Amino acid sequence: MILINKKIYTIVKIISRAFLLLILISPLWICAQDQPLFLAPTGQSIVSTDLHIHTTFSDGSVWPNIRVEEALKEGLDLISITDHLEYQPHRKDLPNPDRNRSYDIAEGAAEKSKLTVIRGAEITRSMPPGHINAVFIKDANKLFFPDDPTAGIIEANRQNGFVFWNHPNWEAQRKDGIAKLDPMHIELIERKLLHGIEVVNFTTLSEEAIEIALENNLTMVGTSDIHKLTAWDFDIPHGGHRPMTFVISKNNSPEEVKNALFEGKTMVWFKELMIGKEEHLFEVVKANLSASHPTYEEDELIAKVVLKNHSANILHLRYTGPFTFHQDGTIFKIDPYSEKNIDIKTLETKTFLELPFELLNGIIGKKKYLNFKIQTQ
Ligand SMILES: [Zn+2]
Ligand SMILES: [Zn+2]
Repeated sequence: MILINKKIYTIVKIISRAFLLLILISPLWICAQDQPLFLAPTGQSIVSTDLHIHTTFSDGSVWPNIRVEEALKEGLDLISITDHLEYQPHRKDLPNPDRNRSYDIAEGAAEKSKLTVIRGAEITRSMPPGHINAVFIKDANKLFFPDDPTAGIIEANRQNGFVFWNHPNWEAQRKDGIAKLDPMHIELIERKLLHGIEVVNFTTLSEEAIEIALENNLTMVGTSDIHKLTAWDFDIPHGGHRPMTFVISKNNSPEEVKNALFEGKTMVWFKELMIGKEEHLFEVVKANLSASHPTYEEDELIAKVVLKNHSANILHLRYTGPFTFHQDGTIFKIDPYSEKNIDIKTLETKTFLELPFELLNGIIGKKKYLNFKIQTQ
């Protein structure tokens, strides 16, 4: 009898300990799942998007509902399914005259979730103009003009769509990998028919496309252009992520996201890089990096400051101010969602510090990196 009681006691003890451990770690787990990828600048929203995605309805390998599940797992707020209008290699198995169908299925799969799916299409041409995405459109079928290079673009604009140039650096169409404008692109920009450009597509970056965006006031976009599974192509199980475009908008309604895209308010997240127009990248960095109030040990003139990275991206920083650090060089990194203590030899006691940095992985132009200042609290 005593032996049985002892056994029961041991089992109860193990179960209660396991339960207690579960209770203790569950907030951490919930927290990790819910943590935003980037904090929004004050008074605004930051909306994570992928505006270039394929399914079996063109040359992709997965059904539209899987695109929705991937996006939800990866923290996306808004996606567009942009199947090729003209290129349907699965047509024999999947006859598909309705070019809205992949959107309809994805939209249905996303119902009751926090993901927004918007209608889109890829207009597929040889260079020029190359491939063009139209998103926030109303009817993809009406964009189908296989024999006319610009009729689909004009129709997308008539539907008030946001239109951007895909992979202008694609080696199949630019063998040197250099994005450059042809007269047709210049005409499309002058007629305000083209509003954005991919500076990042799939696994490639184009600093020339960044220059084209800056010189022609086009919105910088980065997309996955995924055809297979994002987990495979971007090594997501091991900490990777797909390229995303973060849109800084008034709120997260599709209408405001679209407005912000037209206004060029984006930041592209690609590998460890953050890419955008200077003012927008600065806004995002300012919201995601904070510095604590400087404190001093008694009789010392070395300020202790805690820098905190609130984002999912590593920050590679170079301090560009007059002081030196006590325990680090002035180039250092802060891991995602982490803190870094820096000891700054300020020569006198300061109650406030303005810290100037260069974000070495923050691109604002061709070979140009973001310089900014943050104030201690
Ligand atoms: Zn394409
Ligand atoms: Zn594509």
